[in-house]
Amino acid sequence: MSKKYKSLNEYFRERFGCRVHKITVDAGLTCPNRDGTIGRGGCIYCNARGSGSGAASQMTIKEQLLLGKQRVFRRYKAKKFLAYFQAHTNTYASIQTLASLYEQALSTPDIIGLCIGTRPDCVSDDILNLLQSYTNDYLIWMEYGLQSIHDKTLDIINRGHHSNAFIDAVLATQNRNILTCVHLILGLPFETRDHIIETAKAVAELPIDAVKLHLLYVVKDTPMEKLYRQGQYQCLYPSQYADWVCDVLERLPKTTIIQRLTGDPHPDELVAPSWAFNKQATLELIHKRLDERHTCQGRLHDKTIGNQYD
Ligand code: SF4
Repeated sequence: MSKKYKSLNEYFRERFGCRVHKITVDAGLTCPNRDGTIGRGGCIYCNARGSGSGAASQMTIKEQLLLGKQRVFRRYKAKKFLAYFQAHTNTYASIQTLASLYEQALSTPDIIGLCIGTRPDCVSDDILNLLQSYTNDYLIWMEYGLQSIHDKTLDIINRGHHSNAFIDAVLATQNRNILTCVHLILGLPFETRDHIIETAKAVAELPIDAVKLHLLYVVKDTPMEKLYRQGQYQCLYPSQYADWVCDVLERLPKTTIIQRLTGDPHPDELVAPSWAFNKQATLELIHKRLDERHTCQGRLHDKTIGNQYD
């Protein structure tokens, strides 16, 4: 399969000479967009689980990592791992609590770094200083949810922040030896292809190391489910999604690491579209569209590079 973009595996191989696997952990934190500090109810596509596994109620961070390592080792013989704090807002606690959670992860054998998923309006200099203090010995990623550069969309999806919060967070993170990843969602309510192209162009101008692209899928027990069932939201078709992904990739710098091209719905929670379950087919469709369009990452960002991934 031709690779027309800079994948995360390629980045890991260049940097470490081997595959590195992320192990997802649930720190049992919450989100200020749910507990009333910023808002209630959360983003309209997020359910109370907040992308979490629920493991926090039964296991410590270290136990989750040890179990995850065993699983990944059995399947891939992997030897290096990153602890991915994914559920809810992983900078939303006191600095002491955060230090204790992060350091529990970093003290687990074979963990070479952290990926911290969070909201851009939920970081402070103290938190960034703490994370920066680990960077001599560990790889540290901040993963900021932006979803769209359009403030009108951010209001519609009840994000509780605007794009300026994201820009501030990215600028506060740069020059700290911390890598920055941004999460974008394709297919948000009332967004067209032009909206996501504008988002890609805005992201391309910022000091960002990586991008994760997600399809908006409808999850049970969310305001999105209500919109969908009332006929007020129509999911993207696979071909539409593949084309929009190509549109984004073309506009990102060729050096931006593409961490994801689509998401993984939880098997018990997906309402629509059902094709979201078939991740492999979606990836193949994206690769096919890149081929058919004779395009690649960066083609419209830096027109001098040509199809360098051919
Ligand atoms: S910020 Fe994240 S965890 Fe909080 S409601 Fe939105 S998607 Fe869910």
